[in-house]
Amino acid sequence: MAIPGEQPFCEATDLRSDPDPSRILIVDDDPALRRALPQLLAQDGRIFADCGAVSEAIAHLTATTFDLILLDYRLPDGTGLDVLDWLANRQRSEAVIMISGEDAIEAAIGALRRGADDFVRKPYHVAQLQRAVQGTLHKTALERANQAMSQRLRASERLHRYLVESSPDLIFTLDAEGRFSYLNPRVEELLGYERSRLLKRPFLDLVMPEDVDRVHRTLHAPRNLSGSTFSLELRLRRPREAWVGETQEYVTVALQGVPMIQRSGAEERYVGLYGVARDISERKRAEEIITFQAYHDQLTRLPNRVLFKDRLELAIAHAQRRGGALAVMFVDVDRFKLVNDSYGHAEGDVLLRAIATRLSSTLRRGDTLARLGGDEFTILLPDISQPEDAEFIARKVLAALEEPVTLSHGDFRATVSLGIALYPRDGDTAEALTQHADIAMYQVKRSGKNGFRFFDPTLNTYHRDRITLENELRGAIERNEFELHFQPQVSLSRARVVGTEALLRWKHPVSGLLGPDVFIPLAEEIGLIGDISRWVLDRACAQLAEWRRAGFPDLKMSLNLSSHDFDRNDVVSTVTDCVHRHGIPPERLELEITESMMIQDTAGVAAKLHELREAGLSIAIDDFGTGYSALAYLQRFPVNTLKIDRSFVRDLDGAVNNPIISAITGIARGFGLELVAEGVERIEQAEILQALGCDVMQGFHFARPAPAAVILEWMRQPITDPAC
Ligand code: C2E
Ligand code: MG
Ligand code: MG
Repeated sequence: MAIPGEQPFCEATDLRSDPDPSRILIVDDDPALRRALPQLLAQDGRIFADCGAVSEAIAHLTATTFDLILLDYRLPDGTGLDVLDWLANRQRSEAVIMISGEDAIEAAIGALRRGADDFVRKPYHVAQLQRAVQGTLHKTALERANQAMSQRLRASERLHRYLVESSPDLIFTLDAEGRFSYLNPRVEELLGYERSRLLKRPFLDLVMPEDVDRVHRTLHAPRNLSGSTFSLELRLRRPREAWVGETQEYVTVALQGVPMIQRSGAEERYVGLYGVARDISERKRAEEIITFQAYHDQLTRLPNRVLFKDRLELAIAHAQRRGGALAVMFVDVDRFKLVNDSYGHAEGDVLLRAIATRLSSTLRRGDTLARLGGDEFTILLPDISQPEDAEFIARKVLAALEEPVTLSHGDFRATVSLGIALYPRDGDTAEALTQHADIAMYQVKRSGKNGFRFFDPTLNTYHRDRITLENELRGAIERNEFELHFQPQVSLSRARVVGTEALLRWKHPVSGLLGPDVFIPLAEEIGLIGDISRWVLDRACAQLAEWRRAGFPDLKMSLNLSSHDFDRNDVVSTVTDCVHRHGIPPERLELEITESMMIQDTAGVAAKLHELREAGLSIAIDDFGTGYSALAYLQRFPVNTLKIDRSFVRDLDGAVNNPIISAITGIARGFGLELVAEGVERIEQAEILQALGCDVMQGFHFARPAPAAVILEWMRQPITDPAC
C-alpha cells in the first residue's frame, strides 16, 4: 500500500548498532605523507584512499562517496578550495578537514566558509590531527543519525497522518473547552458536515439532545483527569440537509476518549481530548431488530406474550401505587381453525393480521394489544375507573369485527370470544389476571361464542373441574367407562326400524352418565378422540353383528366420526378392517360426518371418503343445513345420506310449507340421496316431514337413545305410530 503522492514510508535509515566503516580520502601531493597518514590514523572501521591532485580527488569522488576528506590546501593542479567548490556544487555531504601550511588566518576562514568542517595547520602534531579526524567523524555520525531520525519521524508522521486521515472511524481532538481542534475527513462522509465548519465548534453541538447530559457528565467526570480512557455510546446528529432518503437524523457511535492531561509537579490539568468514534448504527439496528423480534409477534408485529406480561406487571405496580384499576382481556378468534385448515395457513395469516388491525383500532394510546400465539390475543387496559369502561371496549371490539374480512376465497365474518378480568377484583398478578380472563373467554366459547363475559369466581371452579375431567377422561377406556346407546331410525312408509345411530355415553364414576357434548370436544382437544372412535367403531360393529344374528339382517348402523379421525392416514383401513372382522356387509355401516369436515379438505377428506365409498361403506352428512354446505361439496363428496338437523325440525310450526326442509328434500332428491330427519319429538313434526317428502326419522317421539338391550326389546315391538 503506498500513500498517494508520497514515498513509501518505511524508508527509515538502518538502525543497526554496528555502523558502516568510515571511508577517508587523503588528498596530498606529498606521497610520504599519504603513506604515513593511514597508519597514523588507523582504527577499526576506517578505510583509506589517497591521491595527490585536485583532478585525482574529483575522480575518486565521482566514483564513490567518503565520510571524510583530509584535504591539502596546496595541490599541483589547484587548491583544496577547488575540491570544496566541487563538493558544494554537488551538495555532497563529505566532511572535510583542510590541512595546510598556510598560516594565514584568511586561508582557514576561506576554507571553513566554503564548507570545510575543520582546519589543521601544518606542521601539526599527530595527536592534533587524530583529534580533528575523530571529532569530525563523530560530528558527521551525529549529523547522519540526526538526519535518519528526522527522516524516520517524517515517515512516521506521514504514516500516522495517513492512518488517521483515511480511517473509517471518526478521529478528532477537543481543546480544554470541548471544541474541535482537529477532525479527520471521515466526518464529512459519516455525518455530512464540512470539516472546516466544525473546527472550533463545541463537540456537544453534535450530540443528540437526549444524550447531551450523559455525554457532558462523562467528559467532565473527575476520574478523567487521571487520564484514563473511557467509552461511551452516543448519537451524533447530522445536519438537516444530509437527511436524504433513508438516512437517519443521527448516527450511533461508540466513542473511545483519551483525556489529554498536562502535569506540572503534582498538579494535573485537563487540556483536551483525543476521540475515536466508530459508526455502530448498523449493529444498533440489528440489535433493535433482534430485540423487537424477541418481544413481538412476527406475523402481526404486535407485542408478544413476554412483552405483554412485562407491561401487565408494570401496570399492576402502577395501579397498586395509585390505588387504581385495570382490565385484562383474553380474545380468541372463533372458528379460526376452520379457516386455517380449509383455506391454508396463508389465508389464516391474512385473517389474523386483519383481526389484529381491527382490534388495534378500538384501543387508546397506552392500551396494549398482544398476540399470545395462534388465534389468541390479549388486551391490557391499564387505566379504567369502572368495569363499564372495559365493557365499552369489549363491545367496540365485537363491533369492529362486524364488517367481514376479505380473504382470497371470499368474505369471512370473523367473530371473537372475549373474556375480561379486572384488577384488583379478579387477581393481583399477571398470571392470575390472564388466566381468569382466559377462563371467562372459554365460558363465552361454550355458550355460543361471539360475545364477551367478565370473570366470575364460580368459573374458576368450572375450570378446575375441566382439568379434573381431562385427567379422568384419559383412563376412561381402560376402566371400561364408555357405553354405547342406540337410537332407532324409523321408516314411516315401511313402518319399521331401518337403522340405529350409535351415541356414546360416559359412565362417570361420580357425575353419572355424561353425554358426548361434555367430553367429545375435550377428547378432541387432548388427542384422545382417535382411541375413542376406534372403540365406538368396534362396539357398534359388534352390536350390529349381534342384531343381525338376532333377526335384523337389514338393519343399518350409523356412527359419528370426528374431523380428527380424518387427520389419520389409517382411517380407511381401520374402518374396513373392523367391518370385515365383524362380518358385516360394508353398506350396512354408515359413517356420519359434519359439514365442516367437508370444507376442511386439508387432510384429504374427500379422497378418504371416496376410498370408504369404494369399499362399500355409507356416508351421511350429520346436522345438515347448519354448517357451510354448498352444493359443490355434495358433488365432490361421495355422500349417501343427509340428516336434517333437529333445529329445522324444531322450527316446524304446523305450516306444511317449510322452505328449508323443502329445499333439503329437493337437494336429496336431486342428488339421489337418502334423507333422515333428526330430533323428531312430536307427531305433528313427523307428519309434516312426511308430507314434505322425508320418510326416515329419528327422535324422542319414536325412542330415546338407550342401551342395546332396551333397543332390541323396542325393535321387537311392532311400530304402531299413527304417523305410519
Ligand atoms: P348427533 O350425531 O346429531 O346425534 C343426535 C343427538 O340428538 C344425540 O345427542 C341424541 O340424543 C339427540 N336427539 C335425538 N333425538 C332427539 C330429539 O328428539 N330431541 C332432542 N332434543 N335431541 C334428540 P347426544 O347423544 O347427546 O349426542 C350429541 C352429539 O354428540 C351427536 O350429535 C354427535 O355429534 C356427537 N356424538 C355422539 N356420539 C358420538 C361418538 O361416538 N363419536 C363422536 N365423534 N361424536 C359423537
Ligand atoms: Mg349423528
Ligand atoms: Mg345430528
